[in-house]
Amino acid sequence: MPIAFVTHPQYLAHDAGFGHPERPERLRAVRDGVARAGLDDELVAVAPRPATKAEVEGVHDDGYVEALERFCLSGGGRLDPDTGAGTASWDAALLAAGAGLSVVDRLDAGEFTAAFCAVRPPGHHALANRAMGFCLFNNIAVAAAALAGRGERVLLVDYDAHHGNGTQASFYDDPRVAYVSIHQHPLYPGTGSALETGAGNGQGTTANVPVPPGATGDVFRAAVADVVVPLAEVFHPTWLLVSAGFDAHRADPLTNLALTSGDYADVTSDLLALAPPGRRLVFLEGGYDLGALRDSTAAVLVALAGDRLAPEAATSGGPGRDVVDVAALVQSRVRQHRADTS
Ligand SMILES: [Zn+2]
Repeated sequence: MPIAFVTHPQYLAHDAGFGHPERPERLRAVRDGVARAGLDDELVAVAPRPATKAEVEGVHDDGYVEALERFCLSGGGRLDPDTGAGTASWDAALLAAGAGLSVVDRLDAGEFTAAFCAVRPPGHHALANRAMGFCLFNNIAVAAAALAGRGERVLLVDYDAHHGNGTQASFYDDPRVAYVSIHQHPLYPGTGSALETGAGNGQGTTANVPVPPGATGDVFRAAVADVVVPLAEVFHPTWLLVSAGFDAHRADPLTNLALTSGDYADVTSDLLALAPPGRRLVFLEGGYDLGALRDSTAAVLVALAGDRLAPEAATSGGPGRDVVDVAALVQSRVRQHRADTS
């Protein structure tokens, strides 16, 4: 069954500022990854529609949405020290927020086994009321909120090297969306301790695995096996959404993790077992080395097609297994506590 590849020329028009690492060339590298994946007929281009304001407001405050529109359309500038936007960014942001929504109906209809949304700007740091960390709207959260709103149980796994603080905050007390992040610590934005496990009715539906610099692919796979899988076994997801940041690659200039494209292939394949075909949505987040973006995109697309492409060998032996053990223990204690008190 084919895979949807969702992208739009307007994503190239978003300009985060001169010399900014989150640059349009990133999507050209992703395009090169498509070619490298060699999937030909199996990959179907899908043009996204813009999200409506009501859909964006499933995650963001209406005051923020209005303010961002005014800011962009009056010429833009800096929204925070890391995050810039220009006039063209408004349409790009709405099209990025709409990417997942655009393809859900077609996934429902059985047209595709999965969708890869190659969007800019990225989304997982964006908070309800402000832009942050290169992100304007939280694209994956908009899709997750829409799915949860129609009764789905959404498992959202974020393997970007940075903690997806915006996504976590969106669903921290929401039992319909489980959020698991594997990320480098210490690193921007500084959130994502293993002790952040959700609140209220969402207690136990957030998990964090903050791995140290140098962590390798086997550590990420252990986090999937020991933290994500046990959570999924009690959560029973009907959809899998992945925040695919490729900045955990060892070549990335902003981070210090040690993954390769081969590791991205394996981690993605491990995750795909957690939701049925046709219920899998992948969003591009970060990733700032163009070669790593190309190879990792190729590896993930081939994984979505049910095959394996490892442009570089998988890695093992780095630090962080102890952190996985701690996160797994925290999760099992939270589940035990919930069972005892319910
Ligand atoms: Zn990142």
